Amino acid sequence: MPSPNPRHPNFPIPGGPALRAKGWRQEALLRLLENVLAVGENPDELIVYAALGKAARSWPAHRAIVETLIAMDEDQTLVIQSGKPVGLLKTHADAPLVIMANCNLVGQWAKAEIFYELERKGLVAWGGLTAGCWQYIGSQGVIQGTYEIFMRIAEKRFGGDLAGRFVLTAGLGGMGGSQPLAGRMAKAAILCVDVDPARARTRKEIGYLEEIAPDLDTALAMVQAAAAEKRPLSVGLVANAADVYPEIARRGVTPDVVTDQTAAHDLVYGYVPRGLSLEEVRALRTSDPDRLMRESRASIVEHVRAMLTFQERGAEVFDNGNLIRSHAVDGGVANAYDIPIFTEAYLRPLFCRAIGPFRWMAISGDPQDIRVIDDLVLETFSGNHIVTNWIALAREHVPFEGLPARIAWLGHGERTRLARAVNGLVADGTLKGPVAFSRDHLDAGSMAHPRIMTENLKDGSDAVADWPLLDAMALCSSGADLVAIHSGGGGYAGFMTSAGVTVIADGTPAADGRLDRALTNDTSLGVIRYADAGYDEALDEAQRSQVGHIRLG
Ligand code: NAD
Repeated sequence: MPSPNPRHPNFPIPGGPALRAKGWRQEALLRLLENVLAVGENPDELIVYAALGKAARSWPAHRAIVETLIAMDEDQTLVIQSGKPVGLLKTHADAPLVIMANCNLVGQWAKAEIFYELERKGLVAWGGLTAGCWQYIGSQGVIQGTYEIFMRIAEKRFGGDLAGRFVLTAGLGGMGGSQPLAGRMAKAAILCVDVDPARARTRKEIGYLEEIAPDLDTALAMVQAAAAEKRPLSVGLVANAADVYPEIARRGVTPDVVTDQTAAHDLVYGYVPRGLSLEEVRALRTSDPDRLMRESRASIVEHVRAMLTFQERGAEVFDNGNLIRSHAVDGGVANAYDIPIFTEAYLRPLFCRAIGPFRWMAISGDPQDIRVIDDLVLETFSGNHIVTNWIALAREHVPFEGLPARIAWLGHGERTRLARAVNGLVADGTLKGPVAFSRDHLDAGSMAHPRIMTENLKDGSDAVADWPLLDAMALCSSGADLVAIHSGGGGYAGFMTSAGVTVIADGTPAADGRLDRALTNDTSLGVIRYADAGYDEALDEAQRSQVGHIRLG
């Protein structure tokens, strides 16, 4: 039985014991499609997150996907091209049920302007990372990543946590909305600026943001008082970051940590230039997108200059994966790359061991299934501090959005072990229904993005996109239920290629085999990717866990 969705009443949250499709694998994928819209930012337009990341190309395409998932047999494979179903092939019961390629443009054509034109003609849709392949789970999907970044900074500079520290950031959208809660969990006093009052309200309503300040003076007083008392606090401010960051710098105030997660990657549909209202921006998207691009870039220049000022004054400043530095460089800020990218600065040693953002969703819709798996994780990985600390915190602080779900940064071997054990709990009826296992595309073997994931690699292979393509092929060979290859639209055009995977634990022996092969091979390729680039941690992991790495003599 679906449950009501107060945020988007027309998009109920799927769940219950009744099957509409011919099997649980198909039904689970259908529920994941429904779920990305239920927790999405603008489901009426099929938009899930990151400005233009869509679940399907159009409503007719969406309808055809739903009808096919319901009607298809287990030995068929649905082929989706940029959010539109284009074929149903006869394969075999251990082949993927769904394969997708979303928004992959040929090299010289992979540009924002060409993407917008193709999207206007209805020929492509951007899948974001997790929107087009139905793996998005709301702000909870990146919250551990954001929390781990804050904790690495805390360990590096502030003695273990962010108590008494002022964090400045912007963006309270689908992904950026995780920041206030992650900051509070790291014990910081965090100020989050967003230009859209509706986004700030939503994050408050769903429990990710505590307060919304009426103006900058009040916001600063609130976070500074909380920091002085070492009291964790999250405060939202409705304003343009390109106004607020320079103003804070002008006042001589220097936060301890500064970042930004506005949708700066997309200069037309994402970033809002200063001096323009939201209505004016909406109108310019169709009437004069070139002007909007120019104005967004000009605002980003001021925004990033202020970030650089904070960095010069000693703040820990980092790029949180939204391409803001690249647009600043294009706008003339030659030293914008002095700001480090979060992957290289804090998380790469984890990726070398294929430890990354793994997640699972309870297809039953019952939160108790996630609690049972939480207990299993705590018991199975009792010696893994990152994971046990995270699960305890998540249980206390992270509200479920949509289908009950959990994220945990698990690595090679760990993911397979957990998923197979969960499959056993589905089989013996401990869990109410199947569980879907997936991960962010921003994972060890599955993303080439020279300005986010693969910047400054040791061997210089930043722009080599072979790795995610090999990963997707290995996942198909391993029988994952859904495999997707994505590239950038809008701001990310020409910047990235990534692979996504979902495997359903439906309690059958066949699912046990699929989980074992797909999850093990996915993380094996992650370790191999970093071992090949010459990272000692990955070479060590490759040898220790025998991932099948071939080293030339
Ligand atoms: P979103 O479109 O859901 O939200 C973006 C928010 O930015 C909106 O609320 C918008 O009002 C706000 N905004 C735009 N311009 C602004 C300005 N000048 N001042 C203040 N607020 C402004 O996007 P999202 O899903 O939250 O993603 C945000 C960015 O993070 C994207 O660039 C996305 O690609 C990137 N991202 C990074 C990671 C990561 O792992 N670090 C993960 C996912 C997404």
